Amino acid sequence: MSLASIKRSIRVGTLLKLVRHDWLKPLVVNGNLGQTVVKPKIHVGLVRPVALVQSTQIALQGDNGLSYLPWPTSKNIRETAKGFEIDLVGFGEFKYVMEYEIVAPKLTHDSTICPHCQANLVGDPIPEEHREDFGGATHFQRQIGIERDHDRIEAYQCPDCKTIDEL
Ligand SMILES: [Zn+2]
Repeated sequence: MSLASIKRSIRVGTLLKLVRHDWLKPLVVNGNLGQTVVKPKIHVGLVRPVALVQSTQIALQGDNGLSYLPWPTSKNIRETAKGFEIDLVGFGEFKYVMEYEIVAPKLTHDSTICPHCQANLVGDPIPEEHREDFGGATHFQRQIGIERDHDRIEAYQCPDCKTIDEL
């Protein structure tokens, strides 16, 4: 698959999980007071949403603000089973790579739009006198909480497309 099709699969809100980064290692600094280990702000396993999509770059939303990921030339990016990888050296040899997985968004208690069919999940307004009982919420949610053997919600279902997402 090409850079163009990788770009097409990424929109604002797409979740990207860093699954490999061959250059991401704690940095050991030798100073006057001995060694200090500087840990990178990102780590393998971190999932961040795409906050900005431009033709030349995307930006991921982290705890400390946006981090920008410029698109490399097409020979330095290729599709993987679940996402894409970028050649860190820039010769297109893929010896040292940064790999991202595209995480499928899940239906949760807080979803206002179904991630599968885009249905609006905001339901009827809750009468003001009852809002306190619903944690201050102003509207009912349309997604269906599924309880099985246990006394707690284990999955959510979209009322429209019927997709079930486990928590
Ligand atoms: Zn749906």
